[in-house]
Amino acid sequence: MRFRYSTGENGKPVRKAAVYTRDEHGINFSDVDPEAVSVVERLKAFGFETYIVGGAVRDLILGKKPKDFDIASEASPTRIKKIFRNSRIIGRRFRLVHVYFGPRIFEVSTFRSMRDGPTSNTFGDIEEDVRRRDFTLNALFYDPGQQIVVDFVGGMKDIREKRIRPIIPLASIFRDDPVRMIRAVKYGAATGFRLPLTLKWKIKTQSSLLKSVSPSRLTEEIFKIIHSSQAAEIVEALDRFELYGYLQPAAAALMRENADFRVRYLRSMAVLNKPGFKNLNGERMAALIYDYLEDITDWERGIAENYRITFAAARQFVLPMNPPRFELDHAVRLFFAAHGITIKRSHILDLGKAAAPAREGAEGRAAGERRRRRRGKRRPGPPPPAET
Ligand code: ATP
Ligand code: MG
Repeated sequence: MRFRYSTGENGKPVRKAAVYTRDEHGINFSDVDPEAVSVVERLKAFGFETYIVGGAVRDLILGKKPKDFDIASEASPTRIKKIFRNSRIIGRRFRLVHVYFGPRIFEVSTFRSMRDGPTSNTFGDIEEDVRRRDFTLNALFYDPGQQIVVDFVGGMKDIREKRIRPIIPLASIFRDDPVRMIRAVKYGAATGFRLPLTLKWKIKTQSSLLKSVSPSRLTEEIFKIIHSSQAAEIVEALDRFELYGYLQPAAAALMRENADFRVRYLRSMAVLNKPGFKNLNGERMAALIYDYLEDITDWERGIAENYRITFAAARQFVLPMNPPRFELDHAVRLFFAAHGITIKRSHILDLGKAAAPAREGAEGRAAGERRRRRRGKRRPGPPPPAET
């Protein structure tokens, strides 16, 4: 192991980071996405310090296949945007750049500083950037060109000792962002690493802070969980920490009330773990609703009516998650398909009729006339008979 130094106030060198070589970190270069490498190398060629960061480095060290490659750079979003024609600046909570390779997206963030508070978007250097990251196992920087891991926070040691250790002080880590509680438990379950007692205690005593988190962030988290390859372990751990109720309150309540439901629900989550399971949101969401729908569906009803009731029930059940209609529709159709029923367009059109009661009198006639005119515009009638 080598060290990286900077010059201290008294002019003497100060040790800043440990640098691990290929033999020491053990990352197999062939597991690193070549397109992510090309993004990093291009930014470096323009003179910007750039690394693969976060979960990808963690997973590579653990010998797992990363599901996405996040990149962090010294370059500002506007510079990154100029360097990659196939890119777009996006601004969810922070301004980031998405670099597109066909259907694939690489998220490139600019090193950020805490100078103006934990949620600011002020840019900084790598040392400031690392201090904003949540846990040491998520704060390693990988330079694919030199095949080195740069570690400012002892993350490599924590990985070797199988420990989830926060970087941000315990007093503020969850106050600044309660979602980090979900993240801590998720990484514990996914890696099998232990959470220190102090961290567990904080989670226990501060879990109610999660009430203030927006539905869109909770939706983001639940999607990440169902897209991971350890959804069952993660949901089980979140339930044990009494956090699952913030992500999926209806399911968490049922798990508590009904031991049989709990077993079935976790079994459905485990199906998502299987390699090759499709990565579509709708496909994965089916696991969240399947067992509940199984319990409430009355098979005596007609298909159209059943689709309508089931769809509405699924929408309620997954709250506060608010998935796009077509994704939830996909999940509900899969539920019916598992019972040998294909939902056709006509079943849904039937619903439209049922939902819009016929209008009477002049209003009805006017609406009919408007409909006929619209139809007339869309589909011209037959051509006039040829003159003889
Ligand atoms: P996953 O496997 O779930 O994608 P990840 O660690 O890559 O895990 P991301 O949400 O993709 O998680 O975030 C990328 C990195 O950004 C993290 O590894 C972490 O360093 C940092 N990060 C993300 N969310 C937070 C947060 N809420 N607080 C502090 N740092 C965060
Ligand atoms: Mg990630």
